[in-house]
Amino acid sequence: MKILVIGSGAREHAIVHSFAQESVASGAEAHELHAAPGNPGIGELATLHAISAVDGEAVAALAVELGADLVVIGPEAPLVAGVADAVRAAGIDCFGPSAEAAALEGSKAFAKDVMAAASVPTALAHVCTDIDQVADALDAFGAPYVVKDDGLAAGKGVVVTDDRQEALEHAQACFATPRPGAGDPVVVIEEYLDGPEVSLFCLSDGTSVVPLAPAQDFKRAFDGDAGPNTGGMGAYSPLPWAPAGLTEEVVTRVAQPTIDEMARRGTPFAGVLYVGLALTSRGTRVVEFNARFGDPETQVVLSRLVTPLSAVLRAAARGELADFPRLRWSDDAAVTVVVAANGYPAAVRSGDPITGVADAEAIEGVHVLHAGTALDDEDVLRSAGGRVLSVVARGEDLQEARRRVYAGVDKIVLPGSHHRTDIAEKAAREQR
Ligand code: AMP
Repeated sequence: MKILVIGSGAREHAIVHSFAQESVASGAEAHELHAAPGNPGIGELATLHAISAVDGEAVAALAVELGADLVVIGPEAPLVAGVADAVRAAGIDCFGPSAEAAALEGSKAFAKDVMAAASVPTALAHVCTDIDQVADALDAFGAPYVVKDDGLAAGKGVVVTDDRQEALEHAQACFATPRPGAGDPVVVIEEYLDGPEVSLFCLSDGTSVVPLAPAQDFKRAFDGDAGPNTGGMGAYSPLPWAPAGLTEEVVTRVAQPTIDEMARRGTPFAGVLYVGLALTSRGTRVVEFNARFGDPETQVVLSRLVTPLSAVLRAAARGELADFPRLRWSDDAAVTVVVAANGYPAAVRSGDPITGVADAEAIEGVHVLHAGTALDDEDVLRSAGGRVLSVVARGEDLQEARRRVYAGVDKIVLPGSHHRTDIAEKAAREQR
């Protein structure tokens, strides 16, 4: 197949890496891979095209020019901007929901409305349009307070805090952030959900649902879940501690009813419904929906998928998931650790040289995915974003995958960088 992947993060590198591995694993003819805009790591596997990921017309024109068989859209911003609609309008199969369906991620208030209509278990929430409503809602729920920017904020629009003043200040900041074309700002205040979190990616063609393997990510910046929320500092899969039947429960009680409700509204959701869950003392609850693969969970989930990714994504894009054979998975465990730039997630320093990637990949079971990297005029690899690299390792169990991933991280030299040292630590201990 000729496949065009839109995006430039480690998630997109993971997707391209999976496509590239398919021919290695099966001996079949290699796919012709393209990416826009991509990054230096993706550029080792795919031809890069310097167009904006959120420019639907440009993406569609590129897909037509290439004669692409499939376009896969990685990040949320192009989905919400309607890039999938533009590609489909050009007659090309596209994995990724329409702009209307991507509102499941683009607006937390919309997602809450769909969940209520579909009887999906989630946190109670108040949708607020001014600070007085916020104050009332905070007092109604009590601490810990959960304050969410209604719109897209790259995983950083949520504050969970015991400090009422901090909660109010975050709400004020959300109200003060201009949202061009998105109407008046809205803040969602939620009841706090206790219990461990699970991410489950559910592929859908608008009708059927095919779940991937569950994963857990680590959102806080520092060890011990200290520090601010980030886009994600690491992840692992499988979850040895997860209750048996969790995936089936989530498909039956969450994903399928949501897909059915979206179809009923005339805005079918075809793509990946990322279900963020909390396994609370009162049962499984949805924390959030996203309309795309999660980063960094994708890095570990895809590394365990044995079924060719391109085949299942194309089936989803073409409305053919109902007949798709059961997905096959490796029994291996996978762990990913994000190497973040100096200062992340606050003031990020860019331009530092990166070395050691090849040394890390020389370790058995390890591969390195690029996110915020760029090549300078002398072809030196430098940091160019907050999350710079995702080091991924597979092993026969979580302990072995952890040993390998941290051996890989130790080989990476990036001045001032930081990473968490406790990714999958507890789960690996419990698994042994
Ligand atoms: P969201 O952008 O909605 O995914 O939220 C980001 C992160 O904030 C989640 O992964 C949780 O760690 C935390 N969070 C969000 N909502 C809640 C909630 N109701 N209770 C506790 N933690 C939450």
